[in-house]
Amino acid sequence: MTDLHPDLARVLLSPDVIQSRIKEIARQIEGDYADAECVVLIGILKGAFIFLSDLSRELKIPHTVDFISVSSYGDSAVSNGAVRLILDLRKPIKNEHVIIVEDIVDTGNTLEYLYRTLKWRNPASLRTCTLFQKERESKDVPVDYLGFELPDVWVVGYGLDYADTHRTLPYVAELKAEVYG
Ligand code: 5GP
Repeated sequence: MTDLHPDLARVLLSPDVIQSRIKEIARQIEGDYADAECVVLIGILKGAFIFLSDLSRELKIPHTVDFISVSSYGDSAVSNGAVRLILDLRKPIKNEHVIIVEDIVDTGNTLEYLYRTLKWRNPASLRTCTLFQKERESKDVPVDYLGFELPDVWVVGYGLDYADTHRTLPYVAELKAEVYG
């Protein structure tokens, strides 16, 4: 790619590769929930909103969409491990089939916190879906649907940001270490 932004080291995943993997995940979910009346997809803001919108439009089973927002990183690339709920769901999920839709699992703190928090609300079932997971040790939180494993670098694009920049790139790229280091 000739016009790569100077903050970016390289492109890791092209738009085509991302879209075809999302189609595969959608087929997997359709198979697993073929008998369910409805599924609730819960997107974690802000990073998962682009993935959730593509996944939702690809899914050919009845489903609804809701959002939740947590805070752990602030505007930096360094997590202090504490997760706070800053925006809750619009509707109760008791007796619903729920899939948490995350953009990327790094330490696993966010997904573990949300899994625990939503489990308390007694959904009929609770699964997790993340488009990316870093190739490093993360918390022992179950990931039921995984798009891609990525190296342990800061990535941006396709919903993922660095201090609210690069979020709308159609591909996923590695941010140069000197930008966030
Ligand atoms: P965890 O709690 O698993 O450490 O981190 C999960 C959250 O941190 C993700 O939802 C995402 O918002 C953010 N995050 C972790 N790694 C990256 C990354 O490489 N790039 C971006 N943009 N966000 C990340």
